[in-house]
Amino acid sequence: MINVTKTFLPPIEEYNKQVQRAWDNEWLTNRGELVLELEEKLKEFLKISNVIATNNGTVPLQIALKLLGNQGEVITTPFSYVATTAAIVWENCTPVFVDIHPEYLTIDESKIEEAITDKTTAILATHVFGNPCNLEAIEAIAKKHQLYVIYDAAHAFGVQYRGKSIFDYGTISTCSFHATKLFHTGEGGAMFANDSDLQAKLFYSHNFGHDGPLAFHGLGINGKMSELQAALGLTVFPYIETILAERKKVVDFYNENLDFSNLQALKIRDKTDWNYSYYPIIFENEQQLLQAQKDLNEANVFPRRYFYPSLNTIEYSKGKTMSISESISSRVLCLPLYVGLREQELSTIISIINNKLRC
Ligand SMILES: *Cc1c(COP(=O)(O)O)cnc(C)c1O
Repeated sequence: MINVTKTFLPPIEEYNKQVQRAWDNEWLTNRGELVLELEEKLKEFLKISNVIATNNGTVPLQIALKLLGNQGEVITTPFSYVATTAAIVWENCTPVFVDIHPEYLTIDESKIEEAITDKTTAILATHVFGNPCNLEAIEAIAKKHQLYVIYDAAHAFGVQYRGKSIFDYGTISTCSFHATKLFHTGEGGAMFANDSDLQAKLFYSHNFGHDGPLAFHGLGINGKMSELQAALGLTVFPYIETILAERKKVVDFYNENLDFSNLQALKIRDKTDWNYSYYPIIFENEQQLLQAQKDLNEANVFPRRYFYPSLNTIEYSKGKTMSISESISSRVLCLPLYVGLREQELSTIISIINNKLRC
């Protein structure tokens, strides 16, 4: 069976070695040696000055919205994983959707201003499939209207924009290290901020607000990464260049061999070093997608409809119609992309899709 993704698993002996360190320390969580080491490695690799490792990629979104959303209206994208919208609603903020750009699939910055009201507190946009939002335009709008910018960068590990880590942009950025993501710790994630006051707030927030054992500094929650998660992260980490290079090969093969005459590919923003995190293709209509999916399933290939449905249509999000996002959502399919996918398997997938489009 070929799934849309396959978790990268290094040799278990290497994981055991890292886990042994936690055993030797008799220390399994609360920012132990392994978490601190993983944070240092991430800073070095990503060339960033700060990172806080977390237990998943959703809690950092909730923390960011708790700190910056102020239970107001949060302008957001309807084309993302459900966690983006759910975190807004969970934090008692109101999602206000702005439609997406039809080629980049990120929030359409030209439609943000008309959605701003006096209740707007923040913009929460997703670098969907690792493709950066229009960072300059969003920053300018945020500055003009004094809004915070939170980037859901769950897909964007390793992405650089203008030679700088994508996590360096926005008031707060968050990432997910879920097993399905490019770099992973099984479950896990991280959050990033440049402002030092905000870094301190993020830090307290992810550890119950603890300021030492006896004092508290604001409201907090448990967002800590455990030593066992960090052990897996430290085991995967040495392979990150290999992971990126192998994924690039798969992406290049799709790019060279798929027949794009009736198919739309993701357009990557200029000045971006992309991370090859997903391979979405957009059919001309949903019928074509369903037929291609059926043929692929019959050949034991299981792509995923990322992202469907458009998040403005989910019952609790109470969103207005978003014609571009709803249309793209109904027509987009993410093809299998992972380390170890063989050229012959890729050829099978490609010929099924190309054949379908020809009839
Ligand atoms: C995976 C993902 C999340 C959630 O991350 P978890 O680590 O699973 O909690 C949030 N946003 C987006 C866009 C994602 O793809």
